[in-house]
Amino acid sequence: DHHHGGDHHFIFRSKLPDIYIPTHLPLHTYCFQNLSHFKDRPCLINATTGDTFTYAAVELTARKVAAGLNNLGVRQGDVILLLLQNCHQFVFAFLGASYRGAIVTTANPFYTPAEVAKQATASAAKLIITQSSFVDKVKDLARDKHIKVVCIDAPPQGCLDFSELTEADEGDIPAVKICPDDVVALPYSSGTTGLPKGVMLTHKGLVTSVAQQVDGENPNLYIKRDDVVVCVLPLFHIYSLNSVLLCGLRVGAAIVIMHKFEVVGLLQVVEKHRVSVAPLVPPIVLAIVKSGEVTRYDLSSIRMVMSGAAPLGKDLHDAFRDMLPNATFGQGYGMTEAGPVLSMCLAFAKEPFEVISSGACGTVVRNAEMKIVDPLTAASLPRNHAGEICIRGNQIMKGYLNDPKATEDTIDKEGWLHTGDIGYIDDNDELFIVDRLKELIKYKGFQVAPAELEAMLISHPNLSDAAVIAMKDEAAGEVPVAFVVRSNASKISEDEIKLYISKQVVFYKRINKVFFVDSIPKAPSGKILRKHLRARLASGLEI
Ligand code: AMP
Repeated sequence: DHHHGGDHHFIFRSKLPDIYIPTHLPLHTYCFQNLSHFKDRPCLINATTGDTFTYAAVELTARKVAAGLNNLGVRQGDVILLLLQNCHQFVFAFLGASYRGAIVTTANPFYTPAEVAKQATASAAKLIITQSSFVDKVKDLARDKHIKVVCIDAPPQGCLDFSELTEADEGDIPAVKICPDDVVALPYSSGTTGLPKGVMLTHKGLVTSVAQQVDGENPNLYIKRDDVVVCVLPLFHIYSLNSVLLCGLRVGAAIVIMHKFEVVGLLQVVEKHRVSVAPLVPPIVLAIVKSGEVTRYDLSSIRMVMSGAAPLGKDLHDAFRDMLPNATFGQGYGMTEAGPVLSMCLAFAKEPFEVISSGACGTVVRNAEMKIVDPLTAASLPRNHAGEICIRGNQIMKGYLNDPKATEDTIDKEGWLHTGDIGYIDDNDELFIVDRLKELIKYKGFQVAPAELEAMLISHPNLSDAAVIAMKDEAAGEVPVAFVVRSNASKISEDEIKLYISKQVVFYKRINKVFFVDSIPKAPSGKILRKHLRARLASGLEI
């Protein structure tokens, strides 16, 4: 810990030394920097069909896609939207866009047409790449906004075939000069408050984040070249895009792509492909533990399980660890805006870091600084004191797209990103998250922004005010519940309100319960006093 002047500044760093990070390289160049050592090795494996693409094939296809994008009129700095389940085409499209100097915004393919339209419009997407099962969702949007649509399978009339991209002429590959601060990925996140916003992640930021996880002298932290990594988490979320795909590519690991999660399917894939690293989320861990299926499969190949995106309880952690006694089981802690990884388990590093406590979210990544800040006084706190977790380093976002105010509210003048999470660092440098200051709700690790649901509720003619908060739920972690005020004389029912919302949103944003109240508690500034509502929910009394 460092002390500056009279004011106590407690800044936490990794106990591992900083590393050299080639931040000048474009992301694709960085990922394929060591290609000559593994160009004939399997890179992407389709878990269902077994189809395999070597590193050389993936790299070449990505460059062809850059040419194809260029032929379709995608220019440097243009945004393309991916509306895809996990598939190798997702990877080709992402890397191809990176080569082109374009920006990829990723959306959940289960979004409603309205949700997709919001993101496509906000990000000014020029091209959408999707699959036949979702193409209907973007039909109207594409027509109204003149957005080209590429379909990876059986393209219907009016859509382009993915082969237009992958079979472009190598001679058409454009020469592009990419700067480290150019944006390459634009995931959407509501951050600490408000509506979902475009998170600008740059080439430099993602290179730094990947390097923090897999580069350097101590390569045992996470994925290594000999590993087989299962990519079951959705690539549209930055956790999977960064910590599974990009990390896997950088080290030359084999990446087994599953298009969706299902317990037995996952266990079969682990057995069949001898998966060694399994990046997961708590609801998947829970589903596996509860399934009773673990003993039927040979899971001995697994050496590491990583859990992130939502809190993993100690009991669940211990239960799963006991089922896989030969694997190291650790957590990572991420936030889209942070690039996303802030901390990860050091269990694989050399002694004396071996023992990890369940519940810990790992220790801060290398080449970064972490600070725990008292939310009331803004003072930085010493070990074992809980406060808001803040992080600083090259890996964090450049800012929110077209929203300097939200950017300023999240990254302060000294470059610290404020996470809205409450946690402390213990005597072993391990980070524990204990609470969430921000309004974000996480359903199975997926973001639900209360502000988005509140705006929909308030726009209903029979409701005059609304607030949405999280309610604990065993399977999902949290589910959104609404407190609403009816308009004069309205008799609108709970079911009508739920239906009204469910028609507009993806399944995990559906409102689980509605409480009718006379007013929503608010501060003089108009800010909803969520704490009061949480207390009312916790009291369990008739509300
Ligand atoms: P997202 O931007 O969707 O990745 O969501 C980020 C948020 O998820 C964080 O700010 C935390 O609130 C939560 N989160 C991520 N990883 C963990 C973890 N290991 N334990 C507890 N909460 C987590």
